[in-house]
Amino acid sequence: MIKTRFTEMFGVQHPIVQGGMQWVGRAQLVSAVANAGALGFITALTQPTPEELTKEIKRCREMTDKPFGVNLTILPALKPPPYAEYRHAIIESGIKIVETAGYKPQEHVDHFKQHGIKVIHKCTAVRHALSAERMGVDAISIDGFECAGHPGEDDIPGLILIPCAADKVKIPMIASGGFGDARGLVAALALGAEGINMGTRFMCTVESPIHQKIKEQMVATDERGTDLIFRTLHNTARVAKNAVSQEVVAIERKGGAKIEDIAHLVSGQRGKVVYEAGDPNHGIWSAGMVQGLIHDIPTCKDLVERIVREAEQIIRARLDKSLVA
Ligand code: NAD
Repeated sequence: MIKTRFTEMFGVQHPIVQGGMQWVGRAQLVSAVANAGALGFITALTQPTPEELTKEIKRCREMTDKPFGVNLTILPALKPPPYAEYRHAIIESGIKIVETAGYKPQEHVDHFKQHGIKVIHKCTAVRHALSAERMGVDAISIDGFECAGHPGEDDIPGLILIPCAADKVKIPMIASGGFGDARGLVAALALGAEGINMGTRFMCTVESPIHQKIKEQMVATDERGTDLIFRTLHNTARVAKNAVSQEVVAIERKGGAKIEDIAHLVSGQRGKVVYEAGDPNHGIWSAGMVQGLIHDIPTCKDLVERIVREAEQIIRARLDKSLVA
């Protein structure tokens, strides 16, 4: 067992989190993560309406009696979702843990805190972590440049970002971006975090609700299998490298591209079909550099147990004995 301030605060067995993932963070995966003793998050905006989110939370409760949370991400969207309505659905469902991410979370954090909800804010810069701490969040998920999805615009990898944040942030912090195995967990603890957040690694599990062919492609892909899109729009996203991401990169390289020029390529609805139909080239889908460390498709239970068991072995064998005189 690896106990940290994070496991104590959130009442989970292991310092491992499955963070928000559009189209992937559904009850099937989140309940499996919870039953494995880690902390999973249902992705609110994956559900087409707040009412559907309420039903998804109920479905998850039927599959686990362990703690789980809901992710609410606020990013530019082609059709901005009704964030406040989703927030109300989360609160009214009696959820006790929320992961926020993206821009200006203050109003959401305030409302969640008024209802006694613990908030983990995921962010990609030390200044944003400090601002979230001042807002009153309970923990920070600090997300390095390696991550899938939106790494921000500073391009600071976890090896620097995590200890920089740990030097200043006082509340518990988990490390995100590039984590997929026991070595990453031990490194995160050494860098000053109290646990890890994994997205891409959890996509590649038995219970992950995406097509088997996509999981197999992730196993086959190495650490170079991502592209950065939306750089010129200051909304950088790391996505799986494919024919569509390459087309977007080529359009952006020409200069002056607007969202309207690429909307037909990047829409989330197209990405959803990738996961449903198993065609990796149908649209844009998120994946991180950690694909280079993914070599199998285990159950969530086997994955979490393996990471914790091997992390304990590394801490005992390598740090305690051979490295310290
Ligand atoms: P979408 O179809 O609305 O947009 C597709 C992509 O284009 C997204 O990455 C979006 O950020 C980007 N985009 C849209 N308008 C833009 C603009 N004006 N400038 C720059 N970039 C722009 O998005 P979607 O994939 O269907 O996602 C729907 C919602 O889910 C969004 O509100 C987003 O915030 C959220 N989301 C959540 C997660 C998560 O892990 N929780 C991940 C991705 C997206």
